[in-house]
Amino acid sequence: MILYKTVQDIRSQIKTLKEKNQKIGFVPTMGALHEGHLSLIRQSKQQTDVTVCSVFVNPTQFNDIKDFEKYPVTIEKDIMLLEQEKVDILFLPAVIEIYPNGVNEVKHYELGYLENILEGKYRPGHFQGVCQVVHRLLEIVQPDALFMGQKDYQQCMVIKKLLEIEQINTELIIVPTKREADGLALSSRNMRLSDGAKEEALAIYKTLNHIKNNIQSTSFEELTQNGADFLLNEGFSKVDYVAIADANTLEPVEKYDPGQKLVALIAAFKDPVRLIDNMTLN
Ligand code: AMP
Repeated sequence: MILYKTVQDIRSQIKTLKEKNQKIGFVPTMGALHEGHLSLIRQSKQQTDVTVCSVFVNPTQFNDIKDFEKYPVTIEKDIMLLEQEKVDILFLPAVIEIYPNGVNEVKHYELGYLENILEGKYRPGHFQGVCQVVHRLLEIVQPDALFMGQKDYQQCMVIKKLLEIEQINTELIIVPTKREADGLALSSRNMRLSDGAKEEALAIYKTLNHIKNNIQSTSFEELTQNGADFLLNEGFSKVDYVAIADANTLEPVEKYDPGQKLVALIAAFKDPVRLIDNMTLN
């Protein structure tokens, strides 16, 4: 694996790869790598010639400074894992490489309603930050395929929109969510949970399954309200949302229609950590 820290250096390597017609797969991450990230990398290894992974904790996508400051950093272990997976290139930039004009001189993207619902509603500015970093990384890496996790369902939809509005010729490949054996979605933020809290956090997965199993027989209002109550009873301190939405547009849906693809999404605090998860329902 070759490690690049500057845009200039990685660019000249990308240019060489492009000249050789190598198919480039790209996996952007914020580090603290786990099996979820590795599943994206493995898929990229299977489908492309060269896999580039980036590790960059992007300051502009954190609306909560404490969340940013507490974000786990395990770079030595990350490098070891990436070498084990035979990643070809690791891009590990400093903030100045990504934001040469500073983090306040950034572009604004017209994301439409996607920006202000669900995650967007509870994390104002978050998706602008995601677009800023992903757009910049795509300009640098110029990948043929971009691998992202279904775990961040709305993020995938936002990036799909970004590719459309910026007319970027990269294929977005969405990889299913990796879970612990008991069902808890893997997340870098889980590192901040005690074993007991992790066990309690399983209530999110149970709620998603409950919704999936009862989607035809119970009203959506009851499912989402009972889901939120269940999470609070199971030791969650705050529930941002339990929602059932159209799987293609993320628009809210009020009742079951067998012809409509649905997704259930949850965001809730297992103090002090905010967890998200989702499940497609049909
Ligand atoms: P992050 O480092 O959290 O920004 O995540 C980097 C990429 O890994 C994103 O595309 C995430 O959606 C993806 N990812 C995170 N957790 C998982 C998981 N449990 N399963 C699959 N992909 C994941």
